[in-house]
Amino acid sequence: MADRDGFIWQDGKLVPWREATTHVLTHSLHYGLAVFEGVRAYNTVSGTAIFRLAEHTQRLINSGKIYMMDIPYSKDELMEAQKEVVRANKLESCYLRPIAFYGSEKMGISTLGARVHVAIAAWPWGAYLGEEGLQKGIRVKTSSYTRHHVNSTMPRAKLSGTYPNSILANLEVTRQGYDEALLLDNQGFVAEGAGENLFIVKDGRIYEPEIASALTGITRDSIHVIARELGYEVGTKRLTRDDIYLADEAFFTGTAAEVTPIRELDDRQIGAGQRGPVTEKIQSRFFDVVNGRAPEYAHWLAHV
Ligand code: PMP
Repeated sequence: MADRDGFIWQDGKLVPWREATTHVLTHSLHYGLAVFEGVRAYNTVSGTAIFRLAEHTQRLINSGKIYMMDIPYSKDELMEAQKEVVRANKLESCYLRPIAFYGSEKMGISTLGARVHVAIAAWPWGAYLGEEGLQKGIRVKTSSYTRHHVNSTMPRAKLSGTYPNSILANLEVTRQGYDEALLLDNQGFVAEGAGENLFIVKDGRIYEPEIASALTGITRDSIHVIARELGYEVGTKRLTRDDIYLADEAFFTGTAAEVTPIRELDDRQIGAGQRGPVTEKIQSRFFDVVNGRAPEYAHWLAHV
């Protein structure tokens, strides 16, 4: 990823991609406290636009607040910087990665005395779980690793230190040939995917797990609005893994994963074992929305 052309926004200015580096004694590298976002820009019918830029930027600031990290830029500055990165790299559609981290000013657990640095990169990134996955659905396995307890790493923050747990789960199941991992909370109820929120469809209704130990996904929020617009009720339940085995349909949501159907969990076929009709409707409306083909949702698109 480091050896490419283009520009990365670093601490207030655009720098050539290969020069956007940081020291090996970077505090966040040692202690795992960096907050970040995953954002997508789409090549919409009216030009390139970043999807739900304000909400992603607010979540970045909120993640910082939870960990007492004051990001030294305003929300407006961070939003403008993200647009600038897309423009500078002449990207029509892309994934954006803003990150705020502590630098190499000091060592030791306390962050006092360390400076908060911010970088924003953007690059083209296709379907995270594969084009085929978007159409046919993916095979998921429940990981043996438990999602962080709500009182350890706090789930409202998109924190780098949360992700080794996701990495363990993802590696565990992908090495066995599955596409993605599902994680349960410390009481055994469904939490979320390694990098996605989960929904199921049962008897025409849509349910999601209680959001206690999962990230409050922005795609998830978009799906609530879209599903209700399409006439579905969306309920929250404590879901068990067998609720998913017996669901009519299931799907993952995320900025990277978008809306990816799940056709199997733990070797049990879900519903007809393919993208279900409700998932397809929601997915298709979602792609209309992000690509600017649904004027009612124009307020979710920030043109660059
Ligand atoms: N859960 C986790 C653990 C994630 O990493 C992500 C991706 N950011 C999500 C859920 C989905 O969140 P969003 O829709 O905001 O991308």
